[in-house]
Amino acid sequence: MSLRIVVCVKYVPDATGDRKFADDLTVDREDVDGLLSELDEYAVEQALQIAEEADDAEVTVLTVGPEDARDALRKALSMGADKAVHVDDESIHGSDVMATSLVLAKAIEKTGYDLVIAGMASTDGTMGVLPAILAERLGVPQVTLLSEVKVEDGKVTGRRDGDTASEQLEAFLPAVVSVTDQSGEARYPSFKGIMAAKKKPVEELELDDLDIDEDEVGLEGSWTAVDSADERPARTAGTIVKDEGEGGKQLAEYLASQKFI
Ligand SMILES: Cc1cc2nc3c(=O)[nH]c(=O)nc-3n(C[C@H](O)[C@H](O)[C@H](O)COP(=O)(O)OP(=O)(O)OC[C@H]3O[C@@H](n4cnc5c(N)ncnc54)[C@H](O)[C@@H]3O)c2cc1C
Repeated sequence: MSLRIVVCVKYVPDATGDRKFADDLTVDREDVDGLLSELDEYAVEQALQIAEEADDAEVTVLTVGPEDARDALRKALSMGADKAVHVDDESIHGSDVMATSLVLAKAIEKTGYDLVIAGMASTDGTMGVLPAILAERLGVPQVTLLSEVKVEDGKVTGRRDGDTASEQLEAFLPAVVSVTDQSGEARYPSFKGIMAAKKKPVEELELDDLDIDEDEVGLEGSWTAVDSADERPARTAGTIVKDEGEGGKQLAEYLASQKFI
């Protein structure tokens, strides 16, 4: 039977561009350029390598995000994923990690899966908790933060590198794993891959398709809320200390005046 792999990929605001909050204190995702979260490229790469090793496998990439999030799916498809699922619904706007994980879990159940692969964290929210919450919602084991991952004999195995030890972990499928940026360079899409991606299926889903009520998601359905957000003040010009014999003293005085020492 085919190994069904679902990869969660997030469309995030481009960190090199201007990022801002919208009036409702949510991150402005409409008026800024976005892209596939770089850390999720590692998840796509691991899914493709596992699929290449398996006799028969299918890789589905899944995102919850606005219309433009399709770009993230296209990139993953051009890397080699087989198909994509895009959950886009006005009511999802403002969803926190609890609501987002609910939508992802329902979409994963609807798609069907043996293995879910996520990144170690998104490059915008950077909570790094979504894979664990997802596993809990799906009622399956989680093996997170893997630097190496393999699927064999109905089990997923992997290595998690900590500060003091490396652990070898395993779980029976179905399971959720997340992979780190040490798991292996993500491939670049080839020209052939980019052309092929244009013909690959992208399924569009709304809340109704997933049996989720509007009040379970969005700002209303979220467990957390942003009370206020202030823009960081612009950087001021630095202080230049010119060493004319007294440089060290001046430096120490400056650091003391700023209460660094
Ligand atoms: C349109 C939109 C509006 C949002 N508004 C808010 C808001 O107002 N307030 C708020 O708190 N949160 C909001 N979120 C949710 C938030 O951005 C995160 O998606 C969610 O809280 C998960 O947190 P994280 O990104 O830190 O996840 P992490 O735990 O850091 O992510 C780990 C991994 O989970 C997967 N993942 C995470 N998010 C997604 C996703 N959307 N689709 C597919 N895979 C994913 C990726 O594989 C990622 O590498 C919004 C999201 C979207 C798409």
